Amino acid sequence: MCLSYKKMAAMVLVLGSCILTGCAKFFPAEKQEISAQSTSHSREIFAMDTAMRVTAYGDRAKEAVQAAEEEIKRLDALFSVGNASGDIARLNENASAVVSGETCELINRSKELYNSTGGALNIAVYPLMEAWGFTSGEYRVPEQKEIDAMLTCMDVDEISCDENTGKVILPEGMGIDLGAIAKGYTSARLMDVFVSYDIASAIVSLGGNVQALGNKPDGTKWRVAVEDPFSEEGDSYAGILEITDQAVITSGAYERYFEQDGKRYHHIIDPATGYPAENGLASVTVVSQDGALADALSTALFVMGKDKALAYWKEHADEFNVILIEDNKDMTITEGLQDCFSSQNPFLVEKKDQ
Ligand code: ADP
Ligand code: MG
Repeated sequence: MCLSYKKMAAMVLVLGSCILTGCAKFFPAEKQEISAQSTSHSREIFAMDTAMRVTAYGDRAKEAVQAAEEEIKRLDALFSVGNASGDIARLNENASAVVSGETCELINRSKELYNSTGGALNIAVYPLMEAWGFTSGEYRVPEQKEIDAMLTCMDVDEISCDENTGKVILPEGMGIDLGAIAKGYTSARLMDVFVSYDIASAIVSLGGNVQALGNKPDGTKWRVAVEDPFSEEGDSYAGILEITDQAVITSGAYERYFEQDGKRYHHIIDPATGYPAENGLASVTVVSQDGALADALSTALFVMGKDKALAYWKEHADEFNVILIEDNKDMTITEGLQDCFSSQNPFLVEKKDQ
């Protein structure tokens, strides 16, 4: 049995030859640069079970990066399933709890997306994640009867979450996990933190999930590399996105998996079957101004498969764009990315009205 835990799904290319990833080999843990153009401050942080890098430009960059780290740690404590005093762990333990306004907001957002994605985004996957061993590292293929029993406790509509009182009640047998949306919510919050420090230019990579504020300090767009899901070392990319004020978030079967009896089982669960989603997609990269949405949809569209994902995009084309890479290596981008995506590989462009 082997495990891959490749969280560097996207790389950020900044400042010409300088490559920024979440990986320590390129950068020291903390870095301050002062040039004629701008002061920058950059820090590596390990949180939410992944390597992160936060970079801000401007006079108050150091203070802003410090505040960003505190915000990441605060949200990690709130949402982590493993932190006994956090909102989600208390809820899973007691089936009801009074939680923070932010947790309530995120649960209600997840409920809306559960409905709009036809159940593909389902935060009630937590018991399944445990059964498959993704929470403990003790990987196994659960018995069908275990899976069948869990599938009966996954109706997210039944979660009651009162935004006035903060009281959340889970139906019997349900456990929740915000893993599909929490990092995107966090990167979006970091943009607000930066703005509160008068920062106009910043970029974060939370385990490969990238979100950028403004443009690079020289006024050009941020260049974000979308990882090639077939790359063995995780060091080649499928294309480059040029973005301003957007999140670029990827979900892929290659990010975290184990193998048993020659078969690979990854960490994105199809809530219809209780098994890892297998709908012909190798990775889904969502580009949106809304980080939480981009994260939730990268997971949900991966579950849906190409046809349903593109149909969903056509209904919500004003909210996001997407790059779909199939198991057979075919690549499709939606038309909003036409002018900001480049690749050495061929790709098809999906039009809204086609
Ligand atoms: P990552 O967090 O690895 O970058 P994702 O954003 O796709 O990747 O989130 C995967 C995580 O979301 C899983 O580790 C699990 O906690 C949770 N999850 C798995 N399947 C689903 C699903 N269908 N709906 C909601 N959450 C899911
Ligand atoms: Mg996600």
